[in-house]
Amino acid sequence: MIRNWLKPDWETGLGIANLPIDRFINLGIKALILDVDGTLLPRQEKKLHSSVILWIQEAKLHLDLHLLSNNPSKKRIEYISKQININFTHNAAKPSSRALRKALISLQQDPKHIAIIGDRIFTDILVGNRLGLYTVLVQPIGSNGKTSKNNTVQRLEQSIAAIFGAIK
Ligand SMILES: [Mg+2]
Repeated sequence: MIRNWLKPDWETGLGIANLPIDRFINLGIKALILDVDGTLLPRQEKKLHSSVILWIQEAKLHLDLHLLSNNPSKKRIEYISKQININFTHNAAKPSSRALRKALISLQQDPKHIAIIGDRIFTDILVGNRLGLYTVLVQPIGSNGKTSKNNTVQRLEQSIAAIFGAIK
């Protein structure tokens, strides 16, 4: 089972701001659960890049959005959520599914119509697959809104996932 749980449905190779929103609509996705640190902005920054804000504004026209972060700082995640005016959960303890289950209830959508987008296999992808969401792995974001050159952690995760036979 762990094999399937570590495999994203869509391994994009892209940063979040470059994901085509049409693809989600065509798949019947109604809502997105978004990781924060490494996905929407680098962990050491507080302000979202304009390209990410634009992408979120476009996504909001078609989809419900919710931030789901493992970061324990409510202050940080709230500050970020206010920049884009969407609901958030901090201290989510992914890959534990408790916080995600709660977020799913608030979205009132079938899990198969919800996508989770994140930069980590062992938190975002694992919890999304456990609950039957459409799982989307993005490249970690850099300070210019483009993908970060430092992708060491995700590459390490991919090596470990490969041992389980999940990823080539
Ligand atoms: Mg992350």
